Amino acid sequence: MQTVFSKIIAREVPAHIVYEDDDVIAFLDIIQATKGHTLVCLKEPFVDMMDTPDEKAARLFKVVNRLTKAVDQAFKPEGITVISNNRAGAGQTVFHVHIHIIPRYETDGVTIKVKNHVHETDPDAYHKRAEAIRKAL
Ligand code: 5GP
Repeated sequence: MQTVFSKIIAREVPAHIVYEDDDVIAFLDIIQATKGHTLVCLKEPFVDMMDTPDEKAARLFKVVNRLTKAVDQAFKPEGITVISNNRAGAGQTVFHVHIHIIPRYETDGVTIKVKNHVHETDPDAYHKRAEAIRKAL
């Protein structure tokens, strides 16, 4: 599927590109959720991580790791959030697999909250959930 990221890769849409190799490209996210917010993207237009072969994901994450260190060095943030939204249900808006590197600063206004359900999850549920994942591997 043709997305805005394919157009960035083809240089049909401008972007501030910070890294490129045969498989991967990285550029500043246009919204700059925080200073230095960077997207790392496979050039092949896999839709999301579920659609991405493991070898390609390995190439992607190698660059994510390298760029996370570069962003850290460039901006000296308090921390760095690395996330990927997969499918609309998780907030994905561009359907071309990519990873967000979001440097974090005090009072940056970013809210990524998860709820703790430990007290409502019985021991059997943990067993069943773990087993479901093992079976799917
Ligand atoms: P998602 O919502 O799929 O996790 O992330 C897609 C990201 O792509 C968003 O954070 C959005 O700001 C970014 N984005 C969308 N269009 C463009 C564009 O034309 N240029 C750049 N650099 N980023 C874009």
